[in-house]
Amino acid sequence: TGSSRIALVTGANKGIGQQIAVQLAELGMTVLLAARDPRRGDEAAAELRAAGGEAHSIALDVTDAASVRAAAAQVDDRFGRLDVLVNNAGISGGDGQSPSSADVDLVRAVFDTNVFGVITVTNAFLPLLLRSAAPRIVNVSSGVGSLAAMADPNGPLAEMPASAAYVPSKTALNSLTVQYAKELRESGVLVNAADPGYCATDLNDHRGFRTAAQGAAIAVQLATLEADGPTGGFFNDEGLVAW
Ligand code: NDP
Repeated sequence: TGSSRIALVTGANKGIGQQIAVQLAELGMTVLLAARDPRRGDEAAAELRAAGGEAHSIALDVTDAASVRAAAAQVDDRFGRLDVLVNNAGISGGDGQSPSSADVDLVRAVFDTNVFGVITVTNAFLPLLLRSAAPRIVNVSSGVGSLAAMADPNGPLAEMPASAAYVPSKTALNSLTVQYAKELRESGVLVNAADPGYCATDLNDHRGFRTAAQGAAIAVQLATLEADGPTGGFFNDEGLVAW
């Protein structure tokens, strides 16, 4: 692993995160599949190794600061640095998100994972990323978090039910992405948000019309940017997504 790039993907045991791990491994990276359930993380890592990838699983619950710290310490001991961090773990929060009747505990739980978890994980791994020659952070966001898109009464999001939890959590994640990029610009860390598109995963009971592998592609692209690549942007397969 001396020369290979080291990438960590949160929520890598299934869905888009698993496919991001597969595609990064295909590029020759050493991939750390972080999962809150170590057994399912081990299974996904074993599957990737069986396919020829260099993969290890690591226990990490993004809402549990102690587990995040322990994971960062493990990566530090074993590799001494991190080159790519993909903040992919996320939850939809399920039904009952109408703003006027939303349970604020549900809103809190969604923000805990989709927003505060990203801060916890990013800050724990930042010292390791700063030891990389080409550090990259990718936040897996969603087009539903775009203020421009949600404010368009004739746009594709007009049909979506109003949400006080998942949708604002992704808007907040986009803002955080810009703020991290701003702070880290001088240190060469490129920080971008990815919009995977609507992909069939457990998150939406497989209603999405894209595959998880298709959704993973933009995150992989942002994880492998050259030094002169963008930072503080929001991208899908077609390019920049409007904020
Ligand atoms: P899945 O439900 O298939 O996967 C979500 C992953 O996140 C799982 O591995 C899950 O672990 C993990 N996770 C959830 N909570 C935590 C936690 N507290 N700590 C660690 N891991 C956690 O969904 P997707 O693959 O669809 O979602 C991946 C990302 O893509 C999310 O951020 C989602 O918001 C985003 N996205 C998805 C879209 C889609 O159409 N599918 C569209 C736009 C964005 P576990 O298996 O233990 O639950």
